[in-house]
Amino acid sequence: MNRIPVAEPLLNGNERKYVDDCIDTGWISGSGKYVNGLEEQFAAFCGARYAIAVFNGTVALHVALLALKVGPGDEVIVPDLTYIASANTVAYCGATPVFVDVDPYTWTLDIADVARKITPRTKAIMPVHVYGHPSEMGPLVELAKQYNIAIVEDAAEAHGAEYKGQRVGGIGELATFSFFGNKIITSGEGGIITTNDQGLMDEIRLLKGQGMDPKRRYWFPVIGYNYRMTNVQAAIALAQLEQVDWFIQRRLEVASWYEEELKGSMFTLSPQAEWAKNVYWLYCVLVPEGIDRDRFMADMDKENIETRPFFYPMHVLPPYLDEQGDTKFPVTTRLAASGVNLPSSAKITRADVKRICEAMFKCLALQDS
Ligand SMILES: *Cc1c(COP(=O)(O)O)cnc(C)c1O
Repeated sequence: MNRIPVAEPLLNGNERKYVDDCIDTGWISGSGKYVNGLEEQFAAFCGARYAIAVFNGTVALHVALLALKVGPGDEVIVPDLTYIASANTVAYCGATPVFVDVDPYTWTLDIADVARKITPRTKAIMPVHVYGHPSEMGPLVELAKQYNIAIVEDAAEAHGAEYKGQRVGGIGELATFSFFGNKIITSGEGGIITTNDQGLMDEIRLLKGQGMDPKRRYWFPVIGYNYRMTNVQAAIALAQLEQVDWFIQRRLEVASWYEEELKGSMFTLSPQAEWAKNVYWLYCVLVPEGIDRDRFMADMDKENIETRPFFYPMHVLPPYLDEQGDTKFPVTTRLAASGVNLPSSAKITRADVKRICEAMFKCLALQDS
C-alpha cells in the first residue's frame, strides 16, 4: 500500500502562473507586486493592520524580537514544548529564553507558570500556538499589560486559528508565521510578521532590508539584515493564501474524521478548548500509559504510515539543558514522551484516515501481548 506522509504541500492553484509571471517580468528578488500583495492580504486575513514578509519563520521571530529591543540581559518567556526556533531566536538576540511548562489540556503556555517566571528582566512573552491550537490569549494579554511586557505570538503552525473568535496574528504586539513546506500554507521557505503598531512595522522594515534608510539610498543608520522574501516565494505564498480558507477547512475535516475513528479509544486526542478554534496543523494523539511511543511509531512505519514524535522539550536539548527540567516541566515532559503527530496534509482522504486508525489499533494491540 502507498505510503502516507505526515505532511506534504499541495500546489494546485495559481502558484505556477504567478511564478511564471515573476520569471517573465524579471521580478525575482526581494520586492515586487507579489510581496506587496501577500503583505496586504495576509494582514487582512489576520485582522492586523500591517504584515511584513521575510525569508522564513525563524528570521520573522528574530526580527520581531529585535524590533522590541530584546537584547543581552533580557529574558523572554517561551514554552518548553515548542520547535527550537522559538528559543534560538531569543538566543540570537543575546537574551535568555526562560522556559515555562504548558497546560495539560491545551498544550500551550501555562499562564500560572508564566506569572511565576516574570522578573524585572522579562522583555517579552512568546506564546506558541502549538500544532495549531491557540494559546489562551485573554489572561496572557492581561498579565503582560500588568507588567508592561510585549507579546510575540509564534503562530508558525496556526494560520487562521482563533481565540474567542479573534484570529491569531492580531492579538499580541507582534505575531510571526511560517510558510515552510509542511505548514498550513507554504512558499517553500517563507515567513511573515503581523502587527497593528506602525512604529514596530517601520522598525522591522528597516531591519529586514539591511538597515537602509528608506528615504536615503546607501545610508544605514543601524546594523540590519537581509531577511527579504523574494517575489518568487511571495508568488507561491499568495497563490496559497487565495485558498487558505479551503486549506483550513480541509484540516478541520481531517480532524473530524480522526475523531470519529478514535473517539472513546485509549488515545488522548488533539485539544480543543471551548474558547478556541484549533486549525489542526498536525493532528495529534498521546499513546496510552504503558505504551512505548517509539515502538508504536516504528510499527506504524511498517504499515507504511509516517508519524512524527512530539518535539523534545527545550530543557533536554544541549543548548538549553536543565538537569532538573523533568520536575520543573512535568506536563511538557509527559506530552513529549507520549505524543505522536499523525498524517495531516490537505491531501488526506477519509479512506486514508480509516486505514491510519486501523493501523493504530493494530500497533497498540501488538504491545498488549
Ligand atoms: C516551523 C516553525 C518555526 C520556524 O519556521 P521556519 O519557516 O521553518 O523557519 C518557528 N516556530 C515554530 C513553532 C514552528 O513550528
